[in-house]
Amino acid sequence: MKKRINFPKIKGKLCYNEPLSAHTTFRIGGPCATWVEPQNEKELKNILKFARSKKKKIFIIGAGSNILFRDRAFNGIMIHLGSKNFRKIHFTGTKVTVGAGAMLSQIIMQACKNGLSGIEGLVGIPGTMGGAIFMNSGYNRVVTDSLDEIKVMERKSGNIRRLKTKNIKFAYRHSGLNSYIMLEATLRLKKNNRKVVTEERARLLGAKKKTQPLRERSAGCVFKNPDNRIPAALYIEMSQLKGRKIGDAKISEKHANFIINTKSAKANDVLRLINLVRKRVKSRFNINLIPEIEIV
Ligand SMILES: Cc1cc2nc3c(=O)[nH]c(=O)nc-3n(C[C@H](O)[C@H](O)[C@H](O)COP(=O)(O)OP(=O)(O)OC[C@H]3O[C@@H](n4cnc5c(N)ncnc54)[C@H](O)[C@@H]3O)c2cc1C
Repeated sequence: MKKRINFPKIKGKLCYNEPLSAHTTFRIGGPCATWVEPQNEKELKNILKFARSKKKKIFIIGAGSNILFRDRAFNGIMIHLGSKNFRKIHFTGTKVTVGAGAMLSQIIMQACKNGLSGIEGLVGIPGTMGGAIFMNSGYNRVVTDSLDEIKVMERKSGNIRRLKTKNIKFAYRHSGLNSYIMLEATLRLKKNNRKVVTEERARLLGAKKKTQPLRERSAGCVFKNPDNRIPAALYIEMSQLKGRKIGDAKISEKHANFIINTKSAKANDVLRLINLVRKRVKSRFNINLIPEIEIV
């Protein structure tokens, strides 16, 4: 690990040599040199300016549920929008304004309580609103189905802009928003019967629990579904790889597109398993599986 940098004073959380394994659902990852949680947009802008002046890499982390951090140290600045200002959820009729750091599960619960539907199809995804927009995440529905606009900060200038969903080129697990930091989202939901929305949420969660290893340490589906009707999980299953283990990383028996950390897996174990899957599926079916998870 390199020497600590003299970070500008901020009111938000700041720490050094923070283990990233504590901040990912995989529970994997080496330390990061600097971990920072800005208290507001002004502090975030100052951090970006500081990082640029010191030529430090930055990475924005949400709930860390779609990331595999390597075992070696990350020597840049890890920015987490975990402070109160970035986690606000505010309902005005059918409109909801949500901070990028708010957890999807909390937004869904509150929408159910208010008898609003449109977001319950994301139930069981353990991420933040910012991460979900960046990944264009979805289960029964995708996040962009009810997204009206987002407030972002330009990574280079620190300027704040509002982008309408219709002007963003969202695609399957892709947003193209790499030059921005998501700050806030505005969703348009539909009035519905509270009981109906709550039951739909429970039904979808029950279905997800039945087919996916939600209680294990993972980062969700490792590979994108290839551009045809056969899901990646089926190719992996047909390659007889269910249950295959390298170190403490294992291909889930329940859902072959999940790699789980059974105890204290290293990123390297997961990466070797990813390579094995890609090679096997390529040689048997001539299909190139592309990782959905981000490897940092
Ligand atoms: C058990 C399990 C089940 C899952 N099920 C699903 C599913 O059904 N469907 C699905 O699509 N995904 C699923 N996932 C994957 C993951 O939960 C989603 O992709 C989630 O939306 C990621 O959100 P996050 O906050 O954890 O993002 P992170 O993993 O922290 O980050 C993901 C990416 O988003 C970027 N990012 C995060 N926040 C911001 C921000 N504020 N501004 C700019 N960029 C940002 C990060 O830099 C990174 O590139 C699952 C994961 C697990 C562990």
